[in-house]
Amino acid sequence: MSNFNIDSTKNRTYDAIVIGSGISGGWAAKELTGKGLRTLVLERGRDVRHVVDYPTTMLQPWEFEHRGQLPYEVKQENPIVSKCYAFYEGTTQFFAKDKEHPYVQEKPFDWIRGYQVGGKSLLWARQTQRWSNFDFEGPARDGFAVDWPIRYNDLAPWYSYVEKFAGITGNKDGLDTLPDGEFLPPHDLNCVEKYFKEQVSKNYKDRHIIIGRAAHITKAQPIHLQQGRAQCQHRTICERGCPFGGYFSSNASTIPWAMKTGKMTLRPDSVVHSIIYDEKKGKATGVRVIDANTKEMIEFYAKIIFVNAAALNTNLILLNSTSNRFQNGLGNDSGVLGKYVAFHNYRARVSGEYDGLLDSTTDGRRPNSGYIPRFRNVYKQETDFLRGYAAGFDGRRIEYNSSEGIGEDLKANLGKVTRGGWSVGSHMMGETIPKESNYVALDKTLKDPYGIPQLRIAVGYDDNDEKMVKDYLQQMTDMFEKAGFKNIKTYDSKQAAGLDIHEMGGARMGKDPKTSILNKWNQMHACKNVFVTDGASMTSTSTQNPSLTYMAMTARAADYAVKQMRMGNL
Ligand SMILES: Cc1cc2nc3c(=O)[nH]c(=O)nc-3n(C[C@H](O)[C@H](O)[C@H](O)COP(=O)(O)OP(=O)(O)OC[C@H]3O[C@@H](n4cnc5c(N)ncnc54)[C@H](O)[C@@H]3O)c2cc1C
Repeated sequence: MSNFNIDSTKNRTYDAIVIGSGISGGWAAKELTGKGLRTLVLERGRDVRHVVDYPTTMLQPWEFEHRGQLPYEVKQENPIVSKCYAFYEGTTQFFAKDKEHPYVQEKPFDWIRGYQVGGKSLLWARQTQRWSNFDFEGPARDGFAVDWPIRYNDLAPWYSYVEKFAGITGNKDGLDTLPDGEFLPPHDLNCVEKYFKEQVSKNYKDRHIIIGRAAHITKAQPIHLQQGRAQCQHRTICERGCPFGGYFSSNASTIPWAMKTGKMTLRPDSVVHSIIYDEKKGKATGVRVIDANTKEMIEFYAKIIFVNAAALNTNLILLNSTSNRFQNGLGNDSGVLGKYVAFHNYRARVSGEYDGLLDSTTDGRRPNSGYIPRFRNVYKQETDFLRGYAAGFDGRRIEYNSSEGIGEDLKANLGKVTRGGWSVGSHMMGETIPKESNYVALDKTLKDPYGIPQLRIAVGYDDNDEKMVKDYLQQMTDMFEKAGFKNIKTYDSKQAAGLDIHEMGGARMGKDPKTSILNKWNQMHACKNVFVTDGASMTSTSTQNPSLTYMAMTARAADYAVKQMRMGNL
């Protein structure tokens, strides 16, 4: 930013402001700049440039001071984020640290965040299953939350649109629970996974094992090459940042694409405090930002605002945006802002062993795994809990290296691999029910280092979740037994909500302004030039990973917003 004329309102005025540069903010930036809008992207964290700011991406295990492990002090200082499987010596630079970013846990909640340009898009596991009508019709059919104001057909073309650009690998499986998309060539199931698939098909009509759909380029198309991205090299160290752009991240894809239009101004180190509402104009006029370096408050102005700070931070910003008109948070006439937060229940796992297929093994790495789409309560209510779960599944050959001996003996032994049978495992991905009692709010006294109220999180499991865990453990055990797997073990980690990193809701979409914050275009019912297109907007959670749906919703909402703006409606 120039130091001259810094106070002039004109210099701080844009067509659009996007808050956050993660998966959804990156898409908002790409779409809005692509349609010609001068767009300011405000990001609370530092800049992370593609390739040059991935310091650990080329390091070999022995080049890490602690061989990839987290030092004791780091774990002590970060008890929450240390629980995340992806937080290790090679990735600590991309995770928000507990101490620096405090929040209040009214109920235990592990809030995992990525505060930098690219947000959590650098860290995600890249699973990208579409949602189906069984998801969008869920609340209406099963009588919880409120009805979604959209159906699958509203999003389908936008799924296709974002999939082609992001690069999604997958197989056309023809399942009505999991619509097919615009896929690049699929990864393969390995032999034990194929064996399980056959056994499950033999024993159950409605259960399927498929290869996951994932945001990896398995065959680069011209659109990917134009982004400077290349085929995934199967290194499976994605969360350190990929210099090939082999997986989708904002840093490799949407942000540089938006930058190339010449229409984007990216302002890192800009912590959005609140959205400015103009009582006379009856709309939002801009945002207040705390500069992370100087702690100075600066205002920026625009005709439309996209809020993409990730679900809970979006709630925080909206709750903190108070005015005479909106005393309890922007757009909060209904009083539901911050409420009906839900998440995914990832507590349960089942493991086993298989002693067949001993003449085969796997070769190389695969940045993907098997996927079992939801099969419970799909066509009819068949259990004593609502909704259901999807599951991951994978199998690998058990290998042992002997580390016996010293010197030459040790070296020789390390090279010898003895193979055992196969280990197989599955993890649960359960839908949770959005409830008024699962909410986030601003703490009345505690502030963060920028003077912004800390978020108070009161989100946890209920009886429905407990029953679902039991059912998953039972059903998966049955499926493993039918496949002849042995030594089957079940686990309930009892982990707190949040570690699934799929928190959603708080500013939900709905048909009725009395019970929702956003309309079917992710547009605020009560403040039409503000759009929320991240997880905060979700009416319910489905069982599928949500980020692809955020991308599709963002592109759809941006298209609508720009059309409305050009018609003079915003
Ligand atoms: C280890 C891991 C594995 C995951 N696996 C999957 C998966 O397989 N599939 C899937 O669909 N999802 C997965 N997720 C979740 C996925 O990363 C998120 O759903 C996705 O990143 C959400 O996009 P977003 O734009 O809402 O938020 P983010 O990507 O988190 O971006 C939000 C951005 O907003 C910024 N911000 C926050 N507050 C402010 C503020 N006040 N002012 C300015 N900027 C602000 C943040 O710094 C951040 O850059 C995973 C996440 C993790 C960490």
